Amino acid sequence: MLLEIDNITLLYGRIQALHGISMQVEQGEIVALIGANGAGKSTTMRAISGLRPIASGRIMFEGEDISNVRADLRVIRGISQSPEGRGVFPGMTVRENLDMGAYTRKDSAAIAQDLDRVMDLFPRLKERERQQGGTLSGGEQQMLAVGRALMSRPKLLLLDEPSMGLAPMLIQQIFTIITEINQQGTTVLVVEQNAQQALSRAHRAYVLETGNIVKSGTGPDLLHDPAVKAAYLGVA
Ligand code: ATP
Repeated sequence: MLLEIDNITLLYGRIQALHGISMQVEQGEIVALIGANGAGKSTTMRAISGLRPIASGRIMFEGEDISNVRADLRVIRGISQSPEGRGVFPGMTVRENLDMGAYTRKDSAAIAQDLDRVMDLFPRLKERERQQGGTLSGGEQQMLAVGRALMSRPKLLLLDEPSMGLAPMLIQQIFTIITEINQQGTTVLVVEQNAQQALSRAHRAYVLETGNIVKSGTGPDLLHDPAVKAAYLGVA
């Protein structure tokens, strides 16, 4: 088991956003986390990456308790997040943004290899290597955010709403790239509003409702689950 979340709770002041959720991600999987607005999807990602402390429960990574490990040290251990809303550095070029993704690493030969891999995955970024991040289109910024997260060579890639704001064709493309990244050996946990795409690409998925996991199963099982269809896939 790569990631094991055991009964975690998380508070924003007096507001309880997570009410004791448990989930697992196995090495090599794509796992999706779906749910409505405000369900706690981004909060779960922040708990895993260490951007918000949990109030109780435990987060295990590669068999070690990382619940109290600092966010930057979790990156070094192999957890990398591509945040919702993209978060590229607007005043830096595409190349500089990608270099920032590798800031915790010193293995320059392997960094160069990973840069080539990211450029292969996203030819659009290669064409725009010297362009400032802030001037990229929304879809290009999304690609850059994913590319930057990959530059830390993560064992676990956390993607928060990778399809947000993208045109339908680009949504397909970004999910195809996520599948490729996974096939190249990276385990992926993806949060998505686009449940259809996420469930059809994921090995397994969890459904989050108001801070609780209410359902889990294989991607295909949940795609065909009547309650999931009605609530998240827009079909009765
Ligand atoms: P969306 O799909 O809309 O992004 P989400 O499932 O990612 O939703 P979260 O962003 O995790 O939801 O929010 C979960 C709950 O926690 C919401 O009720 C939200 O209002 C609350 N929340 C999130 N961040 C904060 C914060 N910094 N302070 C107070 N409450 C917060």
